[in-house]
Amino acid sequence: MSRRLPIVAVDGPAGSGKTTVSRLVAQRLGYVVLDTGALYRTLALATSRAGLDPGRDELGAFCEQLIARNAIVLEPGSEGSSRVLLDGEDVSHAIRTPEMSARASVISALPPVRQALLELQRQMGEGGGVVVEGRDIGSVVFPDAEAKFFLTASLERRAERRFLELTGRTEPPSLGNVLDQVAERDRRDSERAVAPLVQAAGAELLDSTDLGIDEVVERIVRAVRRIEARLQSGAAS
Ligand code: C5P
Repeated sequence: MSRRLPIVAVDGPAGSGKTTVSRLVAQRLGYVVLDTGALYRTLALATSRAGLDPGRDELGAFCEQLIARNAIVLEPGSEGSSRVLLDGEDVSHAIRTPEMSARASVISALPPVRQALLELQRQMGEGGGVVVEGRDIGSVVFPDAEAKFFLTASLERRAERRFLELTGRTEPPSLGNVLDQVAERDRRDSERAVAPLVQAAGAELLDSTDLGIDEVVERIVRAVRRIEARLQSGAAS
């Protein structure tokens, strides 16, 4: 498909800075953000409320039905963030708990769940002018994305970031606990059989262990602007 504006795929493990970077990049470029982790998290919340354990056969069909009846809506929030609605209820906050992080990572390994979300993600992003963040965006969802980045950082740095995000909550976990949870999610996301977390072919590796977030954003914005110019000159000729 030829697009006037690129799809920017930003993949990477938990705590690699994808969300912050994606928002800032989208703001600079006037793009929208598609936070695909929020979709998995919302399915985690919906299946948890329905009392469906990840091992239950009905879970896949339940997720398919939710998506088919458009029960999950992602809409732009303030400052490049996105709001997630589940049957009209704003669940943006409810999906950001350690329980939903873990559950999303477990159910996202199930092929019917991934399949159910694949088409939805493609419909939402295929027009371009979008920063899509996730785990398999450059490899599976949009292998033809014009710009691909793989963000990473050391496990310690990523756990520290997650820990700081959770400090405002009642009963925040300890840093050691967060580190164990992030390591467990890394393992599950990387080792699953379907669409595991990988650096996609053609993706630029950006390690934010020592590189500041501003520098990461700057590099992505510069690369995308070059691609925009190329797409536009291609469209004019
Ligand atoms: O990015 P975030 O931490 O919100 O994602 C939650 C979980 O959803 C991840 O740990 C991963 O298991 C799953 N996920 C995925 N593929 C994506 C986005 C998220 O498997 N594209």
